Amino acid sequence: MIRRLINKVFGKTARPKTVAGPRILALEAHGIRREQIHPCALKTTRALKAAGYSAFVVGGAVRDLLLGHEPKDFDVATNALPEEVRQVFRRSRLIGRRFQIVHVYCGGDTIEVTTFRAATADKGADKDFEADEDDDSRVTADDGMLLRDNVFGNQAEDAERRDFTVNALYYDPDTEEVWEWHGGVEDARNKVLRIIGDPAQRFREDPVRMLRAARFAAKLDFHIDPATRAPIAELATMLERIPSSRLFDEMMKLLLSGHAERGVRQLRAEGLHHGILPMLDAILDDPERQKFLHAALHDTDQRVRQGHSASPAFMLACLLWFDMRAESQRNQPAGRSDQSALFEAMDAVLERQRRVLAFPRRFDGTIKEIWTLQTRLEQRSGARPFRLLAHPRFRAGYDFLTIRALGGDAAQELADWWKRFPDASDSEREAMLLKPQPGSAKPKRRRRRKTTVEGEGAIEVKLG
Ligand code: ATP
Ligand code: MG
Repeated sequence: MIRRLINKVFGKTARPKTVAGPRILALEAHGIRREQIHPCALKTTRALKAAGYSAFVVGGAVRDLLLGHEPKDFDVATNALPEEVRQVFRRSRLIGRRFQIVHVYCGGDTIEVTTFRAATADKGADKDFEADEDDDSRVTADDGMLLRDNVFGNQAEDAERRDFTVNALYYDPDTEEVWEWHGGVEDARNKVLRIIGDPAQRFREDPVRMLRAARFAAKLDFHIDPATRAPIAELATMLERIPSSRLFDEMMKLLLSGHAERGVRQLRAEGLHHGILPMLDAILDDPERQKFLHAALHDTDQRVRQGHSASPAFMLACLLWFDMRAESQRNQPAGRSDQSALFEAMDAVLERQRRVLAFPRRFDGTIKEIWTLQTRLEQRSGARPFRLLAHPRFRAGYDFLTIRALGGDAAQELADWWKRFPDASDSEREAMLLKPQPGSAKPKRRRRRKTTVEGEGAIEVKLG
């Protein structure tokens, strides 16, 4: 019923399913100059063309350049088959199974080269690449979900299988032309995120496209076209079927994009936060946690936008902080020490989370360090603050503390103290130290520790 209504309202603006040919735009119409393309991407398209293939810069890079943003990476699309791409470049590697691509290495950079894919609607229609009866190059589940897609095709088909119109733009560095098949340039101008083809079908094929919609809308400051948006609420539960490692990667792309605050708001608006990140669900339902989360996202966004690193481990530490503390408090009445309650709680929370969202174990160490540092940062007497400065995660622990202070979860005075302490002079530091609490380090040890620490003080500690 709702869909019928939407079709009625938006049917007129819906694009035709197949397009006769590309619209080719010259430099004046789009403004993307050859010099804006990464030298490695230029080398890659040139070598492919010299070998007799067609090759374009495609996807996010063209979209971002068109919008005046700096591209994150450069992808190349070609009609050469993956093995043929491998033969053109000595330094290259075939990767992926669900979706095969070739990585071409150039200096320290990597260019992803993708062979044109056939569109999903007319399965096996392309004569040149017709699949065998029992070929498994494209596997579709009963509900329409695309499990593997390695059926190759021509550029028109490749454009049709891409997700959004602004992501289906092809740039030829030789001619400085943009080839568009689905009106992406106009959509970019109007700041519209529009899926190519039938929205419900495209989201069923790959539910992750729903998360991508939220991410791109936030990152590009676009609005999601109403017809594209309409089926999302109903199909959101399909995300439960996505392997949790892929969900984790996609969530981290959103949370570390520099536009996480807006991204999370967008997820919530689309009803996509349930299930994917249960911790997000819980956080957004509780005002206290929400305040903390927004402080964390805001801080991370700023950091990323200033070109600093932000790590998945830090983000996970933020997302799970309240759960961990609640768990730790539950452990304490059993007459246990703070420390053992804390360690047990950390393990329990990480394990429980991992059952829902498979994040790599290699992050555990950092997450736990950031958490345990929170108690240690409260100790501001004797030798302890000096020792802490030399801790490899001091910076991350301190950043976490500032977020807690912003979120009303720690004293601002404590965060300010730690802001001043590392850069203070010896005498200022002495004056800043609080009176030793009973049981803290003896003054005699402090002197020795202090010298050691000062020597190491110059080491830059990078987050993550
Ligand atoms: P980013 O700036 O995040 O890298 P991007 O658009 O380049 O954005 P990628 O994930 O790098 O995104 O994918 C490159 C291109 O491949 C996209 O622009 C899109 O055309 C296509 N693509 C990627 N994922 C999908 C998908 N799930 N379904 C359809 N097309 C996709
Ligand atoms: Mg990309």
